[in-house]
Amino acid sequence: MSGACDGGAAGGPGALFVPVWSGTDAAVTQNTVEGLANRLRGRVVRPTDADYDRVRAVWNGMVDKRPALIVRCAGTSDVLEAVRHARARGLPVAVRGGGHNVSGAAVCDDGLVVDLTPMRGVRVDPAAGTVRADGGVTIGDLDRETQAFGLAVPMGVVTETGIAGLTLGGGLGWLRRKYGLSCDDLISADVVTADGRVVAAESDPELMWALKGGGGNFGVVTSFEFRAHPVGPEVFFAQVIHAGRDARSALRAYREWAAAAPDEISSFAILWHGPPDEAVPAEHHGAPIVVFAALHSGSPREGEEALRPLRAIGTPIADLSAASSYLEVQRFFDEDYPAHVMRYYWKSRYLTGLPDELIDVLVELNEAAPSPHSTLDVWQLGGAFARVGAQDTAFGDRSAPFLLGIEANWEDPADDEACIAWARRVHAAAAPFSTGAEYLNFPGLYEDADRTVRDTFGANLDRLAAVKRRYDPDNLFRFTHNIRPS
Ligand SMILES: Cc1cc2nc3c(=O)[nH]c(=O)nc-3n(C[C@H](O)[C@H](O)[C@H](O)COP(=O)(O)OP(=O)(O)OC[C@H]3O[C@@H](n4cnc5c(N)ncnc54)[C@H](O)[C@@H]3O)c2cc1C
Repeated sequence: MSGACDGGAAGGPGALFVPVWSGTDAAVTQNTVEGLANRLRGRVVRPTDADYDRVRAVWNGMVDKRPALIVRCAGTSDVLEAVRHARARGLPVAVRGGGHNVSGAAVCDDGLVVDLTPMRGVRVDPAAGTVRADGGVTIGDLDRETQAFGLAVPMGVVTETGIAGLTLGGGLGWLRRKYGLSCDDLISADVVTADGRVVAAESDPELMWALKGGGGNFGVVTSFEFRAHPVGPEVFFAQVIHAGRDARSALRAYREWAAAAPDEISSFAILWHGPPDEAVPAEHHGAPIVVFAALHSGSPREGEEALRPLRAIGTPIADLSAASSYLEVQRFFDEDYPAHVMRYYWKSRYLTGLPDELIDVLVELNEAAPSPHSTLDVWQLGGAFARVGAQDTAFGDRSAPFLLGIEANWEDPADDEACIAWARRVHAAAAPFSTGAEYLNFPGLYEDADRTVRDTFGANLDRLAAVKRRYDPDNLFRFTHNIRPS
């Protein structure tokens, strides 16, 4: 689509305001909600509905928010109705793509959730090498459809994640060094704005620029169009496990290897505790380990050759490397991140390097992790990711050679305090080794958000605020890494 179309006046004819609920539902009225429901192709879910608890649940089991209304959108017209309804009644608005953000920003207390979960359409144009995907599509949906044509769009590494939040915040995955961020391949997007219009983002280069890393600040994206690349169906995937006692030497060797690796390879070094898996020798179950995981995006033969030096580091306790289907690699981490049952708190730091002192800190803090499910993930950056200029997209500076993902993952609510405190300890300990910027898709609970936004966007912040002022001057879309309009 192109150009912008006026979505008409807010609210519906004859809408009445008769309060019938109290407490958290005070701002919502039965009959205006009925009016909204009647205008939708999808449906409204309210606290009194039997499936309310299921529908309000997001991936992070720690999040327990109680929206006044959840609008399960079937298409763009439903999104327009939902935004107009919220706006006319002064309700806070949360937007849900895949519902995966650790902060739980996809839902809000007492407000209206624009839930795009039912919007899962994907259409590949193999001749053009492009794919269009609705705002509720998951990475797994997109992968399946694109791989049917031998194509892939760079996305994240867990397939239940929504493409929407991921792309708007950047999008780092197994193809990042070959093809860049998810947002680098974004070529057009339909956006429902705060004033109830549908805008084709590509008709406004500033809006298009802002969507590439600027988060959910500018409206609800109902449809994304991406460039896709030939990948798979088979690739080579390295998975090498080292004992905790060898962690320091293995990580030093990894640092040297990473500096010279070709762009086809995107890798992680993951400090973790051995899972009770038969692939891991029993004496390492529950003990500190380091995993090197790497995908080569070319043919399996090229990949096997190129990944040999990584596999030759030190004396691994297991080497599970093999040719694999790209779809399987994409699902590799899925089982480690169950929805709803586990509790999660994630932060990050872009690193200026991986010096020995930092390796010591990370090894010690991994050993001190209160939960064996928690991980410290060193993401190898560089390559195509780094060749995009700091001002070319809203995402900002890309010069860091590594990103540290700090993942507190645990099961028991009694461990909340200890696990969150551990992640914050790592975050503080890594500060002297960082650029000052953070990956905004791993936002913790958005504590100290203004500072993080300022430090991360740097020189891009004023330009982002100008786009925000034009599209959302009243800051309707604020449950994200919020860019204030002024
Ligand atoms: C298990 C797991 C694995 C992950 N792996 C990766 C990874 O490999 N690489 C990576 O880069 N990130 C990764 N992430 C982080 C992920 O990118 C963010 O959590 C992202 O916000 C998820 O997108 P979502 O649509 O599921 O988010 P949601 O929780 O649905 O939404 C988060 C925010 O995004 C915005 N948003 C969502 N949908 C829309 C829309 N249609 N229009 C406008 N705004 C919208 C809203 O502001 C919303 O508050 C992972 C997260 C999890 C939980």
